[in-house]
Amino acid sequence: MLLSVLPIVKYGDEVLRIPTASVGEIDASIHKLIDDMVDTMYAAPGVGLAANQVGVSLRLMIIDLSVGRRPGELHVCINPEIVEVEGAITEDEGCLSVPDFVEVVTRPERARLRYLDRNGEPREMWGEGLMARAMCHEVDHLNGMLYVDHLRGLKKDRILRKIQKLARAGMW
Ligand code: ZN
Repeated sequence: MLLSVLPIVKYGDEVLRIPTASVGEIDASIHKLIDDMVDTMYAAPGVGLAANQVGVSLRLMIIDLSVGRRPGELHVCINPEIVEVEGAITEDEGCLSVPDFVEVVTRPERARLRYLDRNGEPREMWGEGLMARAMCHEVDHLNGMLYVDHLRGLKKDRILRKIQKLARAGMW
């Protein structure tokens, strides 16, 4: 099968800052976008990808904590919303749009996501631990937010300064 790996946009690109538009009809072009996003996420490799990370400002995200190693673990989430959260957990977090950086971020320990699957069927699922983190991280993307927005003070200054330095050197 021919892979379609799309370029992933990085921190600094405006498209990551615009809240995405809801998906209307789930047609062949949406299915093609989903398939390309899956190829892109597995190639990166990553455990989650939002459509605006490949430059498409639509409310659509995918998560697969097994990165394609275990069948049935790919979640395609169209027009997702976090509807309930419980607890808090602080762990390392990274992002394909902020490559080679990892910072600790506090996220809900459990989160309930409401969304449409790739066939347009309404679904809900509880995520725990890394799944809750991935769900919140990707929904943030769809709302125009990045995980570095959750950082404060020196930690935030340090990562933004390093990114600016890389950008000036043409390495971002
Ligand atoms: Zn991300």
